[in-house]
Amino acid sequence: MAISAPKGTKDILPGEVYEWQFVEGKFKDLCKKYGFQEIRTPMFEHTELFQRGVGDTTDIVQKEMYTFDDHAGRSMTLKPEGTSSVVRSFVEHKIFAESQPTKLFYELPCFRYEKPQAGRLREFHQFGIEVFGTPDMMADAEVICFANDFLSEMGIKNVSLEINSVGCPKCRAAYRKALQDYFRPHFDELCDTCKTRFERNPMRLLDCKSPEDQKLAEGAPSILDYLCDDCRSSFEDLKKNLDAFGIPFTVNPRIVRGLDYYTKTAFEFVSTGIGAQSTVCGGGRYDHLIEEIGGPSVPGVGFGLGVERLLLLMKENGFEIPKPEGLDVFIAVLGDEAKTKGLGILHELRQKGFSAEVDILARNLKGQFKYAARKNARHTVVIGSDELAKGAAQIKNMVTHEQVEVRFDKLVEVLKMSDVLLK
Ligand code: ATP
Ligand code: MG
Repeated sequence: MAISAPKGTKDILPGEVYEWQFVEGKFKDLCKKYGFQEIRTPMFEHTELFQRGVGDTTDIVQKEMYTFDDHAGRSMTLKPEGTSSVVRSFVEHKIFAESQPTKLFYELPCFRYEKPQAGRLREFHQFGIEVFGTPDMMADAEVICFANDFLSEMGIKNVSLEINSVGCPKCRAAYRKALQDYFRPHFDELCDTCKTRFERNPMRLLDCKSPEDQKLAEGAPSILDYLCDDCRSSFEDLKKNLDAFGIPFTVNPRIVRGLDYYTKTAFEFVSTGIGAQSTVCGGGRYDHLIEEIGGPSVPGVGFGLGVERLLLLMKENGFEIPKPEGLDVFIAVLGDEAKTKGLGILHELRQKGFSAEVDILARNLKGQFKYAARKNARHTVVIGSDELAKGAAQIKNMVTHEQVEVRFDKLVEVLKMSDVLLK
């Protein structure tokens, strides 16, 4: 029986890869504008990194990770997200000792064992950025502004920005207690996972996906009523900075995010378009994560943006990703001698900067023209026995359908001029 790709994974086929290359290119261009440098980290890490970083009461660590023992019995995990790895690398290579801030970006595949549906896969891709080294809310606003700029450049109109403050360990102590007081009378109604979260991490109760628990959470106390002075004034700063950038937002005190490392700022860009999978980009501040991973006390802020969801949204918004350029020249050859001549011309054209192909299937002329059309070739050069005898080839302009005879030694020159006119 034929083998298919694993459930929840997708091939990115040659006919669609240009869409990925387009968004990747635009993302990288924007990173350059904002002064972010790329970092690449391994596909798998020690499991402990995510237990400590993402947090072992989160859905990700409890039920979504692809974890396995390697041949030496070490527990490894395929990356479920990017930030923990970037932080690990920042600490391991002592990047914190260089002048700050450190501004990094990445694109990576993430692996989570989830129920596959539109916009939710087991292998998906994220673009992410991180700013390390400043507690200033200017950085948070800049990170949000980046996401906002990127989404609007990608033509996405039906998203709204929701922000919250998830506080710091200081103000959270009182909030945890208030949450427990609220949920205690409903303890028996909670799902099994939430029962375990009740003691260990009651804020996670707000992030539960079960509809019953979500309904309960609606009446829960708001974190914003429990913020300490520092967190409260940071949140005010953030709002002021977003206003300064001219970015509209709404405050949603229910946002806790699916990772434990966030402090103060938490945000999501939410769409109404892709059903239940409505968050295209989520992020926030993590002032203690770097210490948690074994580094010094350095604050950070960043986001992760789902590329599959981005592409879905772009389609929904009618964004037309430009199709890749076709081939500059196709060389149609008839007969063995013409093949040899064709190969020489092919090589010369490529060396001169053209994209070029020659027929390698010994097809008849009609078949060769069909292939040239499929490759969107702008010119087809025809070489047969007549052409060899004359020392000149036929150039067919595939756009205007004009045909001219050109001496072999003038081919490159003529093609260059003609191609400039077509591009
Ligand atoms: P959700 O609430 O939809 O599960 P999340 O809070 O788990 O999202 P994050 O961990 O913040 O998501 O990841 C950042 C982004 O990565 C999300 O906003 C989303 O666009 C994308 N993403 C997360 N999980 C998946 C998935 N299983 N398949 C496709 N994209 C995903
Ligand atoms: Mg999730």
